Amino acid sequence: MGSATLRYFCYGCLFTSVTWTLLLFIYFNFSEETQSFKYVPIKGFEPQKPFPKKFYPRFVRGSVHVPEPQHKDSNPLGNGAKNSVEGDAEFSPEMGMIFNEQDQEVRDLGYQKHAFNMLISNRLGYHRDVPDTRDPKCKEKSYPPDLPHASIVICFYNEALSALLRTVHGVLDRTPSYLLHEIILVDDNSELDDLKEHLGVYISKNLPNKIKLVRNEKREGLIRGRMIGASHATGKVLVFLDSHCEVNKLWIQPLLTPIRESRRTVVCPVIDIISADTLTYSSSPVVRGGFNWGLHFKWDLVPLSELEGPEGATSPIKSPTMAGGLFAMDREYFNELGQYDSGMDIWGGENLEISFRIWMCGGKLLIIPCSRVGHIFRKRRPYGSPGGRDTMAHNSLRLAHVWMDDYKEQYFALRPELRNRSYGNITDRVELRKKLNCESFKWYLDNIYPEMQISGPNAKPQPPVFFNRGQKRPKTLQRGRFGV
Ligand code: UDP
Ligand code: MN
Repeated sequence: MGSATLRYFCYGCLFTSVTWTLLLFIYFNFSEETQSFKYVPIKGFEPQKPFPKKFYPRFVRGSVHVPEPQHKDSNPLGNGAKNSVEGDAEFSPEMGMIFNEQDQEVRDLGYQKHAFNMLISNRLGYHRDVPDTRDPKCKEKSYPPDLPHASIVICFYNEALSALLRTVHGVLDRTPSYLLHEIILVDDNSELDDLKEHLGVYISKNLPNKIKLVRNEKREGLIRGRMIGASHATGKVLVFLDSHCEVNKLWIQPLLTPIRESRRTVVCPVIDIISADTLTYSSSPVVRGGFNWGLHFKWDLVPLSELEGPEGATSPIKSPTMAGGLFAMDREYFNELGQYDSGMDIWGGENLEISFRIWMCGGKLLIIPCSRVGHIFRKRRPYGSPGGRDTMAHNSLRLAHVWMDDYKEQYFALRPELRNRSYGNITDRVELRKKLNCESFKWYLDNIYPEMQISGPNAKPQPPVFFNRGQKRPKTLQRGRFGV
């Protein structure tokens, strides 16, 4: 009797524990909550919470910072943009995580339309601190109190809204108000929905009056787009920025100072790198602009002679060319010097054209190491040109015929197929060159870019260039208008 009771008791215990084990097994393996640990898109997951706490243990190691979504009032469009935590410039791996189908869509669409990670860009929101990448000696510098004020011109075509507004807010957050005369946004006839009414509403509701929006009725390209922006500007100095930039601390004072000293000085900041994949902001070495006979911009190391000035690492560096996206110049001087070549289309070549013109017609082009502005370096240009035309070749042909004298043969030696290609009317630009009494291209090569090698029997050996301040050029610097 006693042993039978014991046996039933044991069976009972066994049954209960098996049942509990089974129930627990089912719960931990098939409940919706644990499914989400599999890091796959989750149907119906709340889009407003991209960093749910239950995900942390799986992806966070040690004391990695996990950003909390913060809904500052700055995003009435409700597109999910959030603000980063103050002072956080480090990349948090969580920033790029995909928690649901909507995240996946935003990421895919971003790469397709913008060639960068729009998911992260949206999560960063419109304000973020960036690391101060300046040489420590820059912090000891002081700037005159009576600097000229600036009109910032930002052209955009189908830009990601979060990148565009981060560019604008970055300028507002880090430019003293008395130096910021206005920001002129030129919409180059974008097609994306949120750049239409939403953007206009956002600007009028949330931004000061000094932010102006100009809409092009047809696509003009960045060259005529900037000319349109400049024609609306009334500040003393024009500052051109791309629509995916983040200005750094004390960025504008070092640019305005040399222009105040001499109105024919054109200045560029050092272009820091914002990664297209992670949106992390990192420092670029101080390099200067050059070009090759294919008329592509390239970065060159700075010759030692340029580094020996009294101000050392912080002194302005003469640059034979500019990358193109980011520079500042006196507004009246921009007009006197012939703005841009309005016969150039969409993208390309305008940076070399304005660089040659600055040097050959009595100006100066400097890179200012103490001014830093980040730029998203994309792996490809996400837009085409109308009719799929090669606007870089068209624009390069125009600049070669106007500015390069016999040296254009160097270009044709590399691009023989372009020799008989039409390039439109250049009469106005040839006249401009005469009117401004500009030097020859030979003068430019001899005096401004003696390092340039000429191919063929008269080739000169290239003088040595030196590593600049012990830093390597990142590969990302060798793309687009910023280097091919
Ligand atoms: N852009 C424009 N119209 C165009 C092409 C470009 O307004 O037809 C703008 C673009 O949105 C960006 C700037 O011009 O703000 C420079 O273009 P992009 O950034 O594509 O040049 P990259 O940096 O790749 O040389
Ligand atoms: Mn750009």
